[in-house]
Amino acid sequence: MNRTAFYPGSFDPVTNGHLNIIERALALFSPLVVGIGAHHGKTPMLDLDTRVRLVEEAGTEAAGRTGSEVRVVTFDGLVVEAAREAGATALVRGLRDSSDFAYEIRMAHMNATMAGDVETVFLAADPETAFISSTLVRQIATMGGDVSPFVPPASAAAIASALAR
Ligand code: ADP
Repeated sequence: MNRTAFYPGSFDPVTNGHLNIIERALALFSPLVVGIGAHHGKTPMLDLDTRVRLVEEAGTEAAGRTGSEVRVVTFDGLVVEAAREAGATALVRGLRDSSDFAYEIRMAHMNATMAGDVETVFLAADPETAFISSTLVRQIATMGGDVSPFVPPASAAAIASALAR
């Protein structure tokens, strides 16, 4: 049985919340292919190569702990197309609250209509990390706050050097 799953997102930067979802998805799927969206038209704080490196570093650690495989790819088109290209039959998304749900359920229905062969699987955010968002991490960092409680050390360092530029 194919147990390849695709976990798409911006990961700008990868946070402890994303890592929690990656670790838990690895208990259900292997390989887990993390897809980093290039998002033309939206300027990220971290460039694509940096986001790939950070997810690879954190993902390899999580994979080592679980004995599963994490791969990282980039994509700039439809999520369902990128999932198919990765050979995935499942799309993993994290749900933090009702506003995530409102957005995610619509996207899941649209994706199911476009690609009935790719099933969306929602993982409920862990209470310890459910409040973390990349957007808030970027805002806090821009205002000089300490983001180390919310992200892996390599993400904090990458944000600091992006802001120093
Ligand atoms: P996107 O731009 O697609 O929302 P993100 O990188 O912000 O990309 O998020 C990717 C996925 O990770 C989404 O499904 C999002 O709901 C989930 N996610 C983000 N932060 C958390 C968190 N703290 N806990 C659980 N899931 C999260």
